[in-house]
Amino acid sequence: MAVLPVVRFPDPRLKLVAKSVESFGEALTKICADMLETMYAAEGVGLAATQVNVQQRIIVLDISEDRSQVLCLINPIIIKAEDEIVWEEGCLSFPGVYAKVKRSAKVKVEFYDIQGERQEMEADGLTAVCLQHEIDHLNGITFCWYPRNCSRSITCANCCTVPYHSLFDSTRSSTRTWTKIICFCGKNMCSRE
Ligand SMILES: [Zn+2]
Repeated sequence: MAVLPVVRFPDPRLKLVAKSVESFGEALTKICADMLETMYAAEGVGLAATQVNVQQRIIVLDISEDRSQVLCLINPIIIKAEDEIVWEEGCLSFPGVYAKVKRSAKVKVEFYDIQGERQEMEADGLTAVCLQHEIDHLNGITFCWYPRNCSRSITCANCCTVPYHSLFDSTRSSTRTWTKIICFCGKNMCSRE
């Protein structure tokens, strides 16, 4: 197993859409093991393959205190979502940044396990939030594209440190509100095209 480098904002690879996993076997097992080791090393509760520059639809989670509830989901899809919850989220790709995001409070997810068996799970609370956050990563979406209240600062790659919330300019697409990240200098650092 190996700890992999985590892709961090504003790396444009965070915007890539991951491809479905089609073969189950040793290579996949190794990716999952490395992702888990990387997540534990960074003290995270979830990690998407996108965050370690593997463009495949794989997420790992473990929200337990004693790190005993390992979940490895291949090709996860949310098949049911209900109610709303607002949770303050963090992300290993955005160190030091926390933001309140509105999510579905309960989700039902269909996925394949590491052996290639189709599974379903229902989740609420932190697990539901994590599942949505990590599945978003596989679609090239990070929690920072959601409107939020956030008082932390991040440094623009080129020029300045600005309050996080002032980087955002919400625009509406057909399905949901996207948020562009625009630096004071006018540079469009990271946006959903
Ligand atoms: Zn994340």
